[in-house]
Amino acid sequence: MTQKSIIIIGGGLGGLSTGIYALMNDYNVTIFEKNPVPGGLAACWKRKQYLIDGGIHFIAGYKPGLSLYKVFKEVGAHKAEYVDLDVYARYIDETSNRSIDISADLDKFQNDMLSLFPWDKRIIKHFIKGTRGMAKSDISEFGFKKPAELMKTKDWIAEFWKNRKSLRYFLGKSMMEVKKYTENIKDPMFKELLLYMFLPEVPIAFLWMILSFVYQNQLGVLKNGSLDFSRKLEDRFLELGGVIKYQSKVDDILVKDDKAVGVILEDGSAFNSDFVISAIDGYTAIFKMLEGKYVNENIKNRYANWKTVEPFVCISFGVAMEFKDEVWMTFFKTTDSIRVANEDKYQVMIRFFNYSESFAPKGKSVIQVDFETEWEYWFELSKDKKKYNEEKKKLVEQVIKWLEKRYPGITEKIEVTDVATPYTFWRYTLNKEGAYMGFLPTSKTFTASVEKELPGLDCFYMAGQWAMTTGGVQTVIYSGRHVIELLCHKEGKTFKTLT
Ligand SMILES: Cc1cc2nc3c(=O)[nH]c(=O)nc-3n(C[C@H](O)[C@H](O)[C@H](O)COP(=O)(O)OP(=O)(O)OC[C@H]3O[C@@H](n4cnc5c(N)ncnc54)[C@H](O)[C@@H]3O)c2cc1C
Repeated sequence: MTQKSIIIIGGGLGGLSTGIYALMNDYNVTIFEKNPVPGGLAACWKRKQYLIDGGIHFIAGYKPGLSLYKVFKEVGAHKAEYVDLDVYARYIDETSNRSIDISADLDKFQNDMLSLFPWDKRIIKHFIKGTRGMAKSDISEFGFKKPAELMKTKDWIAEFWKNRKSLRYFLGKSMMEVKKYTENIKDPMFKELLLYMFLPEVPIAFLWMILSFVYQNQLGVLKNGSLDFSRKLEDRFLELGGVIKYQSKVDDILVKDDKAVGVILEDGSAFNSDFVISAIDGYTAIFKMLEGKYVNENIKNRYANWKTVEPFVCISFGVAMEFKDEVWMTFFKTTDSIRVANEDKYQVMIRFFNYSESFAPKGKSVIQVDFETEWEYWFELSKDKKKYNEEKKKLVEQVIKWLEKRYPGITEKIEVTDVATPYTFWRYTLNKEGAYMGFLPTSKTFTASVEKELPGLDCFYMAGQWAMTTGGVQTVIYSGRHVIELLCHKEGKTFKTLT
């Protein structure tokens, strides 16, 4: 029997995962990727002797113990190297001269909070209880085991039963936005600690989930950076017989009689296939390439009303200094603000790549200062390269001045500077408005599900961060698994995986 063919648009983690599961199920697969390397948002780049990581901050489920590990093994991600986190992050409040480590040791974290914020005892206890509650079951695959379209009542019952000890921490008030949850907190530092632990709009259950992974020793960082991680999926894809064409930008999706039949590349060449799977920016695929012809109210509403994550501006430095005592990720509530776009920022986040020798030569380090910022500002600025570069320079100067006060002598030791703005993220991956995780997971959207097919269009599927309620490594890997499981179901085939 001749194998059916699949074209996948985009060789990010979502596209690679889709390709891997498609090959496991005997499809012939070609990925077209516009960049010369895989991974999309999970990207690293070299600046002299330094490796700048502009992607993934942390990852869960990379080692035995959680169901998620099975999926890491399937796509080859278990071959990447990880460093376990015993501290999720450090929070330094310069306005009150206090600091706290968000420790994997929940007793310690609770005691530290109680001694710093005794007047918020009730909320502290509730917060820790939620985190412990999440760790009572293996929730790493909750809601992901199968595509929602294929879940039957008996599957849901099995899921609820498996996760019964943690279930209540996903329901009712647990879905309250962190912003609302913190409204009655008395101590401003405690309030901000929770608000900026991830994003203020996410449900409190989301923070519990992340911290429960830290608590279970299942959250880590990538020892060799994001590109190395992407390469592990690429290796798996190639080993299974997939073809990936780099520097091949898809301009259009070919449709005949409401059936996707192939793609056209930027250079005009056309390629046909039995199925087309988009693993690129959802808006571009649905509303530009397919001209918005295959949508329903759900899809229109999602793209019109769901918020997307605010993009980052990342300022990285290669420094001839070691930062041995620093925690890998540190949040500052600072007294002297930094002006980013049109906003005075009093929250400064620093990533210290001090957990591995992959990023800098011995005795040196990479540090990265990240701010959330508005897309429009940077996009408008990018139209005038001179002004855009001047703005980046001004920002670098401010950040160095700020760093100098905290790390005296650093100015002289900076050997490399790199700035990635929301425009950079867009130019590199073409994700709408530089949204590095797709849709923002809010109380309303967190438990929703996103269809992988478009109404009225045959042989077309979507994977990656825009085919899920939000992005993230685990999510987009599952998106690929789900799409191929759905395709197999439609084709009357039993879905297979190989490990
Ligand atoms: C700074 C940063 C920090 C992050 N931190 C975390 C974290 O801590 N934990 C976590 O789980 N996740 C994190 N993420 C998010 C995670 O990396 C993404 O959600 C995920 O990698 C998205 O994968 P994707 O394949 O869906 O999309 P993408 O990575 O955007 O892949 C799409 C690919 O398609 C290509 N492409 C686009 N248009 C075309 C076209 N027309 N033709 C051909 N190719 C095209 C792009 O070049 C890209 O390679 C972070 C991301 C960033 C940027």
